[in-house]
Amino acid sequence: MADAVVVGSGPNGLAAAIALAQAGRDVSLLEGQENVGGGCRSAPLTLPGFVHDTCSTVHALALASPFLSRLPLAENGFEAVHPEAPLAHPLDDGSAVMLERSVDRTASGLGRDADAYRRLFGPLVDDAEALFGDVLAPLRPPRHPLLLSRFGLSAVRSAVGLARSHFDGERARALLGGCAAHSMLSLRAPVSAAFGIVLALSAHAVGWPVARGGSQRLADALAGHLRSLGGSVETGRMVTSLRDLDSRGPVLLDVTPRQLLALAGDRLQGRYRRSLERFRYGPGIFKLDWALDGPIPWTAREAARAGTVHLGGTLAEIEAGEQAVTDGGHSERPFVLLVQPSLFDATRAPAGRHTAWAYCHVPNGSARDMTAAIEAQVERFAPGFGDLIAARSAMDSAEVERRNPNYVGGDINGGLQGARQLFTRPVARPVPYSTPLPGVYLCSSSTPPGGGVHGMSGYWAARAALRTGGLFSRA
Ligand SMILES: Cc1cc2nc3c(=O)[nH]c(=O)nc-3n(C[C@H](O)[C@H](O)[C@H](O)COP(=O)(O)OP(=O)(O)OC[C@H]3O[C@@H](n4cnc5c(N)ncnc54)[C@H](O)[C@@H]3O)c2cc1C
Repeated sequence: MADAVVVGSGPNGLAAAIALAQAGRDVSLLEGQENVGGGCRSAPLTLPGFVHDTCSTVHALALASPFLSRLPLAENGFEAVHPEAPLAHPLDDGSAVMLERSVDRTASGLGRDADAYRRLFGPLVDDAEALFGDVLAPLRPPRHPLLLSRFGLSAVRSAVGLARSHFDGERARALLGGCAAHSMLSLRAPVSAAFGIVLALSAHAVGWPVARGGSQRLADALAGHLRSLGGSVETGRMVTSLRDLDSRGPVLLDVTPRQLLALAGDRLQGRYRRSLERFRYGPGIFKLDWALDGPIPWTAREAARAGTVHLGGTLAEIEAGEQAVTDGGHSERPFVLLVQPSLFDATRAPAGRHTAWAYCHVPNGSARDMTAAIEAQVERFAPGFGDLIAARSAMDSAEVERRNPNYVGGDINGGLQGARQLFTRPVARPVPYSTPLPGVYLCSSSTPPGGGVHGMSGYWAARAALRTGGLFSRA
């Protein structure tokens, strides 16, 4: 019997297990799938020789994470490969707005908004590490209140509100809108600006790298480090009831509220249960992975310098597309997030050939096939793209959930990340990771700070377990 059991080996489950092992606990990590990693895995989805990341590819948040960034991941096989530019945002005039590592170089592509861009990001980049520490955390008195209030004044706003008041031109507005759309919120919603600022800031502060060989390498490096600390990892073990778990100490669950309800059965009652039942999931995604016979032929050639490409044109167009999804519909011209890792990591495809993936947002649980709509958006900015497709894999929101039960209805963030649920996820209580069941904690992205491969939900949940476990010393 272990000192602590963690169920689920997504980045948060792995981080929780490592934090517990670092504190001297004998940890057992149980994973339902055959591979560790959850949203950080790779698989041969198309043709022999092509490596695809089933979920995450861009690991800005892993580098920004105060916990993951300090782990010996390189020694365990993880190598961050930085594209020359983090992001390209092509426009219909044949140019692309480029988000570069440098604030100044980015600003220089924004015409009359150059100074406004420097004013927004310059001061934050200087203190990015401190800001990430405050932002990737549960609600608590900030360690850097002045910095956080400077960030907060812009961050609490809607993305369109900030973009239209701070910038005059379409280029800067589109750039911020595309980054904010990662939130899967309406761009008219409060705090949607926060996601745009944090993502663009991370591009300047740490970059948007991919993992050489695929994201599985990052998950494997975390699992390798866990084993080196004495932890054990068991895959192919889908836990169906908390009663099946043997632990001398805490149990940490890298699952979302709906699964917690199922795992706990009638042991969870009252207000907490009702709050979990009311927990709101966000929109889903429809994802394509391609094996390509060549690099994507972007009209704006500079887009080939970027790992990530945002396809959606102007801020107004992105705003309309995301609003359609928020309102329960589908956009004919959806905002598309595309990643082209093989341009920078040759291990992902046979020589001269390439991989790419793209997804768009859809209503939660949508079964609509968005293949044509996504590929039309790529073709719009890269005519001839379709001729390069050697094979494709498509996943609607049900398939996304089938591959990972945490992606309920295709929601990849473990729940809606709007203002009302961002820091009080899954239930408003002083320690959001704790549950009314003694020794049982949630550690997934359904707890603060939410979605992304940063491991901080796992870290903070482990801290809570170590603090309140009685038997356990402080981390
Ligand atoms: C297509 C896609 C693209 C993405 N792109 C990025 C990106 O580029 N960068 C980024 O930072 N983030 C990205 N994300 C989001 C990121 O992957 C998630 O936010 C992150 O993985 C959440 O981590 P987690 O540990 O909370 O949960 P998950 O990674 O979802 O892991 C949960 C794990 O728990 C296991 N599990 C669940 N229930 C049980 C059970 N009962 N018994 C045993 N095991 C169980 C699951 O099998 C899974 O392995 C993307 C997600 C998707 C789907």
